[in-house]
Amino acid sequence: MKIRNRIALQFTVIVASILVTFSVLVYSVSANFREEEFNDRLYNKAITTCRFLVMVKEVDVDLLHIIDKNTLTTLIDENVLVFNRENRLIYTGGDSIFLQYDHDLLEMIRREGEIEMYQGENQLVGFLYEEGDEPLVVLASANDKFGNAKLHNLRQTLWWSLSIGIGLTVLLSIHFAGNSLRPISEINDQISSITAKNLKQRLPEANSYDEIGQLASNFNDVLSKLEQAFEKQRSFVYHASHELRTPLAALKSEIQLAEKRMADHAEAGEVFSNLSSDTERLISITNSLLLFARSLEDLGQVQMERVRIEDVLFSAKKELQFANAGSIVHIDYANLPEDENHTLVEGNEELLKRVCLNLMDNACKYSECRTVTVTIRTDKSYCYLLFEDEGIGISEDDLPHVFDVFYRGGNAIGHDGFGIGLSICQRIVEIHGGKILVLSKLNQGSRFSVQLRHI
Ligand code: ADP
Repeated sequence: MKIRNRIALQFTVIVASILVTFSVLVYSVSANFREEEFNDRLYNKAITTCRFLVMVKEVDVDLLHIIDKNTLTTLIDENVLVFNRENRLIYTGGDSIFLQYDHDLLEMIRREGEIEMYQGENQLVGFLYEEGDEPLVVLASANDKFGNAKLHNLRQTLWWSLSIGIGLTVLLSIHFAGNSLRPISEINDQISSITAKNLKQRLPEANSYDEIGQLASNFNDVLSKLEQAFEKQRSFVYHASHELRTPLAALKSEIQLAEKRMADHAEAGEVFSNLSSDTERLISITNSLLLFARSLEDLGQVQMERVRIEDVLFSAKKELQFANAGSIVHIDYANLPEDENHTLVEGNEELLKRVCLNLMDNACKYSECRTVTVTIRTDKSYCYLLFEDEGIGISEDDLPHVFDVFYRGGNAIGHDGFGIGLSICQRIVEIHGGKILVLSKLNQGSRFSVQLRHI
């Protein structure tokens, strides 16, 4: 679950619990208050009736009925029953149908002095009235329709407020959680683009006092240290290989000179010839390392211009065939470009030629017929170069590692090389914002594809 949704959910659960608790509290206090208030009204009504009956001699039962029916305080389904010492009913006010009583109930009131209970929807109070000549048991009951209606109304109001409150909380919490986490998502996007492009890029540190500002600042520090370490490594490789070139060139010419002088000695001649080829190998490695170090340079340091991809391919083909006369290179279009700009890319001609040369060279080197077919394909945004051969292919185990520096597959035994070519190609293509992919089957051939955005 996304952090935004988790925060929103937790916040909603907290707010909903508070709202529900308060609603339940408000409702139960109101319900309690209504019940007590109505019982008080019943009690007062019953006391008034008893007082008329016992204290005011002028009032008889019939007059009391008339008074009862005509007072403003008459309640709905009201009943007032008065019993004498022998539990004989001596007064009935209202409609007795609504009130059920028995001997046990009356005895319980005599014992406890006062009771409050419900009979269906009616509330009932019963008590012992002892102000006259004899103790009387009084039962009063009625239905609090108005109070219950108010309570029903309160219940509805609370229910709607609760639903709307929870709904609003869900929306607001999603909105606010999203807002607070947005800077983190932005930082996340920027971090992915940094790793893909270059270490020179930095995260914006909008507010260095909040946690996100500090995160960006710390990440920038890590980037600076990484960049320094990376630069040191690149600079070491560059300078070491550069420094080695001159003594190696000198060594090579001295060996050649010595080889000429010792031309008469067959044994020494063989030693010098081996020395010469080893030195040649060392010079190749040094040159490759130098190129590798150059390919690690930042995009800003590489000069970019408009380059026509066909020109690069033909120039690489020429160079390859000059170095290895037996190599056969076929260059063709998969589709005729709709626009002449579709084969024009923003790049460094020298570096792109290095990529093409390397891929063509590999294809010829690792196939018996020393043939490579290069196909140019274009669409609205990209220009694709496919380098296909029908050579020895690459095993499934080697395939994921062929772009690693100094990695040579099991199939490379017996073939010249140092395992640097493809890693250089990959870096150069990345500098150009493109992609390089490989598909290969052992003993069937390989297909390297380079994807570059055209102008
Ligand atoms: P190398 O100098 O060994 O050719 P690369 O970096 O150019 O170094 O290639 C790395 C490895 O990828 C090679 O050693 C080889 O195993 C494999 N490889 C590259 N291109 C091909 C190809 N066209 N056919 C078969 N294997 C290849």
